[in-house]
Amino acid sequence: MKSNKIKSQKEIVNLRKIFKIKKRKVVTFTGSFDLLHWGHIVSLKEAKAQGDVFIVLLNSDKSVRSYKGPNRPIISEKDRAESLAALECVNYVVLFDEINPKKILSQIKPDIHCIGPDYSIKNYVAKKEVLEAGGKIHQLKKVPGLSSSNLIKKIIGIYSKPDVRAVFLDEGGTISVSNKPGAFYNVKELNFLPSVIPALKKLSKTDYKIFVVTNKSGVARGYFTEAELKKYNQRLLKFFKGKKIRIDKIYYCSHAPEDNCLCRKPGSGMLEKAAKEYGINLSKSFIVGDSESDVIAGKRANLKTTIMLKGKYFKKPEVEPDFYAKNILEAVNIILKKD
Ligand SMILES: [Zn+2]
Repeated sequence: MKSNKIKSQKEIVNLRKIFKIKKRKVVTFTGSFDLLHWGHIVSLKEAKAQGDVFIVLLNSDKSVRSYKGPNRPIISEKDRAESLAALECVNYVVLFDEINPKKILSQIKPDIHCIGPDYSIKNYVAKKEVLEAGGKIHQLKKVPGLSSSNLIKKIIGIYSKPDVRAVFLDEGGTISVSNKPGAFYNVKELNFLPSVIPALKKLSKTDYKIFVVTNKSGVARGYFTEAELKKYNQRLLKFFKGKKIRIDKIYYCSHAPEDNCLCRKPGSGMLEKAAKEYGINLSKSFIVGDSESDVIAGKRANLKTTIMLKGKYFKKPEVEPDFYAKNILEAVNIILKKD
């Protein structure tokens, strides 16, 4: 139901005649009042205090668009008018379509017209219209910090997240090393390559998400159970945490190559799963690994950069990585340099 405080221009001009007869001081104030906030209320109350009848001249949607661009107002004129009409300090609300209130002010002829603190009385656009009709211009006090534009910026700042990027790390041969070369993963021991701690410490200080993506077909082959693997992963995470290293998650594939799963590298399933779970922009992410399957998984997931380590068992790959590095520290330095 439309508030009866909302009047057409014709209606307000008729009302104005009555107020004149009754010697009631008419105050006007112009604005778009998009995203009504406390700063508006303070100004509206101050305006109301200047006289007896307070009329808000509200810029219509057309008017707001013409001076604030096509994305404004956020709130429609109908809703803005109703919100203002619901305020105790507001007596009437009138919409106008023009870019400035010259025409409507020349019709209403207010006793006092209020302008915001950012305008100058001297150069005010409708100064002539107000003064010639015998009115005065009153400048409202500044309400610091509050404006609809600032609110919008604040909201954007809160809700628009920058791209989340990730570094995917292979495990065996990249961060840890098996006791028995060529043997399947020893999930009973933790052995790290020498540059791992400084490299991951450095990476932990950045905003990159850090994921381990590891093929653990030892589960499918019966070398260890999934429960043992999970325990190993927990120990690994705990160890790194103790070194102030952040590993966001370990993704593993427990299948055998013949299972033809999508997660086993060179499949990109683990990378895509992480992307989905953490909202990762893969095209801005990296993978570091010591085998061709890491490079291929990275290419399949359209990562920004694939880095292959020239480890102990290095074999020149058929699919070339974007970079070669001698160890993970060198790889992390490449990533940070590209940042
Ligand atoms: Zn798998």
